[in-house]
Amino acid sequence: MSEDLMSKKIWIVTQHRDGKLHRMSREAIAAGQQLAQALGASAEAVILGSGIDGLAAEIAGYDLAAVHTADHAALADYTPGGYVSALAPALAAARPDFVVFPHTYQSVDYVPLLAQRVDAGLLPEVTSFENGDDGLVFTRPVLAGKMVSRVRVRGEGTVLLSVQSGAFSADSAATGSAPVAALGLGEVTADREILGVEEVAEDQVDLSKADVIVAVGRGIGGADKMAPARELAELLGAEIGASRPVIDSDWLPRDRQIGSSGQTVAPKLYIAIGISGAIQHLVGMKGSSVVVAINKDPKAPIFNVSDYGIVGDLHEVLPELNAKIRELKQAG
Ligand SMILES: Cc1cc2nc3c(=O)[nH]c(=O)nc-3n(C[C@H](O)[C@H](O)[C@H](O)COP(=O)(O)OP(=O)(O)OC[C@H]3O[C@@H](n4cnc5c(N)ncnc54)[C@H](O)[C@@H]3O)c2cc1C
Repeated sequence: MSEDLMSKKIWIVTQHRDGKLHRMSREAIAAGQQLAQALGASAEAVILGSGIDGLAAEIAGYDLAAVHTADHAALADYTPGGYVSALAPALAAARPDFVVFPHTYQSVDYVPLLAQRVDAGLLPEVTSFENGDDGLVFTRPVLAGKMVSRVRVRGEGTVLLSVQSGAFSADSAATGSAPVAALGLGEVTADREILGVEEVAEDQVDLSKADVIVAVGRGIGGADKMAPARELAELLGAEIGASRPVIDSDWLPRDRQIGSSGQTVAPKLYIAIGISGAIQHLVGMKGSSVVVAINKDPKAPIFNVSDYGIVGDLHEVLPELNAKIRELKQAG
């Protein structure tokens, strides 16, 4: 790899389904742009699929040096073999310094194989990075989020990294106008026949799409004490989320759980009610733009990640808060 900083190159591999860009593709673009800026590198995006001109044009609306399309019938459906056979020769030829992927079930499925195929480093679930005097240091959770590791990449060659949901704000992705060009492809072979795709049960809630979340913790005190939190959610047009003890106690269904063993969310507003702020919960919600915490314990760790904190008994705070919001709504 050249030592010339300006020749450094970041690739961002986007993801899509049913003709729509995956929400995390924009987060990956934002991460790739920030990484490129930190390194004085150029950021280029890649999209794989069949008949993807429209999506490529959409990606070209971001501030990127190029958008590469891998358009091939064998890439119509995602298969690990198809994606690896398309990307491996392209990476070997272009030798980007870093390749950014959204951390999704899809990338977890094929990126390790790709890393092995092109002899690249692998850095999954990156939540942030900083470029200090000693170079780039990446942060990523380990042991189901119980600990955070800080990793410096040593040696040369391409590093494939995936960014965790909510870690980089999609809204921060800079817009621009990028040229679109076809990627040189070798033999592309789908290694599976996709017989169909089944959606998760319709009543499963996808909290990752919510703009506002009212999340309740053990402090709520029981399934029968949920009414004020539900009312707050209704007033704000929010989804209800929860910490794990709430789910384990059957106060709410499992698809409401947020955290390392639940959903990862990145709403504009997250209201944590009676939640202590254990690391397993924080990894699922720390991508939220604004966090409001209501807790009777002023030392609760949730206040360390909150923009606004209300110290008090939630059973007194919530009715007052709801009344105030109702009043403001009526006023206009
Ligand atoms: C492998 C593993 C995976 C896990 N995955 C997850 C996960 O995905 N999501 C998750 O959330 N947890 C997860 N956990 C559990 C996690 O470690 C914590 O136990 C959990 O997050 C705590 O939930 P909580 O904050 O609701 O409860 P607690 O820690 O019991 O906190 C309750 C809070 O409510 C406050 N409170 C009580 N009464 C009131 C009141 N009247 N008014 C105001 N405040 C009040 C208390 O001060 C306290 O801070 C996991 C644990 C492990 C080991």
